[in-house]
Amino acid sequence: MVSLWSATIEPPTPRSALPGDVDADVVIIGAGYTGLWTAHSLRHADPHLRVVVCEREHVGFGASGRNGGWCSALFAGSRERTARAHGREAAIEMQRAMFATIDEIERVVGEEGIDCDWTRGGTLEVATLPVHRDRLAHELADHRAFGFGDDDYRWLDADEARARIGCEPNLGALYTPHCAAIHPAKLVHGLADAAERAGAVIYERSPVVEIAPGRVRTTRGTVRADVVVRATEAFTATLPGLRRAVVPVYSLMIATEPLPAVFWADAGLHARETFADARRLVIYGQRTTDGRFAFGGRGAPYHLGSRVRPQFDEDADVFRALEQTLRSLFPKIDGDITHRWGGAVGVPRDWYSSVGFDRATGLAWAGGYVGDGVSTTNLAGRTLADLILGQESELTLLPWVGHESPPWEPEPLRWLGINGARTLVASLDRAETAGRAPKWRARFADRVLGG
Ligand SMILES: Cc1cc2nc3c(=O)[nH]c(=O)nc-3n(C[C@H](O)[C@H](O)[C@H](O)COP(=O)(O)OP(=O)(O)OC[C@H]3O[C@@H](n4cnc5c(N)ncnc54)[C@H](O)[C@@H]3O)c2cc1C
Repeated sequence: MVSLWSATIEPPTPRSALPGDVDADVVIIGAGYTGLWTAHSLRHADPHLRVVVCEREHVGFGASGRNGGWCSALFAGSRERTARAHGREAAIEMQRAMFATIDEIERVVGEEGIDCDWTRGGTLEVATLPVHRDRLAHELADHRAFGFGDDDYRWLDADEARARIGCEPNLGALYTPHCAAIHPAKLVHGLADAAERAGAVIYERSPVVEIAPGRVRTTRGTVRADVVVRATEAFTATLPGLRRAVVPVYSLMIATEPLPAVFWADAGLHARETFADARRLVIYGQRTTDGRFAFGGRGAPYHLGSRVRPQFDEDADVFRALEQTLRSLFPKIDGDITHRWGGAVGVPRDWYSSVGFDRATGLAWAGGYVGDGVSTTNLAGRTLADLILGQESELTLLPWVGHESPPWEPEPLRWLGINGARTLVASLDRAETAGRAPKWRARFADRVLGG
């Protein structure tokens, strides 16, 4: 299935595969945002460093070429948990680093001339049910408790919210300016070109089959390098010895044909604000520069053994549910769904992203972004560059550095737990929509799912 994003770019010129055995200083596995930001940051920090990227398929094959295009300040990792483990200031610093990351991406996109439809319109989380208002009020109170004011997060009453987004119903929205809407595939390909201009070498169709200190073995040859960076996100579970490190959870998307100006006059999103509502099973959307909706959500099944397969990118029931949800939010949509696709996000057992470098073995990694990697990958890349070059910086002191998530349970417990939670969340959403969700069930779900 071809995503809207790959259907709306010039077909990229394929890169060559690894030509045999190669020596480098740093070898990076995976040419998604993590691998490419790392390569870009390393070469800018030290132009003498020999940086090689080995990609199994092609640049942007993974989530980086398929996502919802929210370049947001969302960080996958509970702020309360960070505060408990590292102190309140560290939790605030982490959030501020995420805000600053959007500025940094904007700077690089501008400097490198990456045309990725960048529009910084913020995000609207709309209350489409009364219970959503309570949930969003709670979220806002949490932001306030950490000292974030109106400039970062603010409540829009129903009239203010309707002026920005004409969805049905609209009972108000939580707004943050910290998000840009982007075209994901344009970003990942532009970034690959920028990393190459900086001197990194990217090999495609070069699957890594073994990782060891000082070398990675691919089907095309071996790269020897003091530093090995694993940037494989949801595919990590397919690497030897890492099956329980993260689980691949599928997120699916649909896109409409371009909708007429008269529709958008009502539907709004004039600043290309990204949008969601406050249901439990995440949905997310953006208005594209050519006037479509690109709209996605979770709900696809987890596959036993953390398998990742092209056929899992499609699920007729989820596509149907997404279309129904989009059409019920915007009943005046009079246009077809033209694209349907999906991909996997990487979920660590504690839902906490991490980045790290073990100098003794030379092994580095970043990931576990859940569904929030578009901007976090840039922070990861800059942080990895500092760690690898041995430069202590404000980035290397952030609380996610060196964080180690526990492994997932062995199968079939993993399958039972993840799919059980998915069913529970979906049924709670249905009950809330019907106005019959008993409080005890919601409390139980919050407890089991961590809020
Ligand atoms: C449908 C969907 C919607 C999303 N929406 C958003 C969003 O709106 N905002 C947001 O912030 N995040 C979103 N995400 C998540 C975000 O896209 C990811 O967190 C981010 O792209 C991760 O980048 P990455 O480089 O770490 O991983 P990836 O982009 O997955 O790259 C990993 C690369 O490693 C390669 N690889 C794997 N195994 C090997 C191997 N053995 N040898 C060599 N190469 C290998 C893969 O082919 C792949 O190219 C979404 C994800 C999906 C799937």
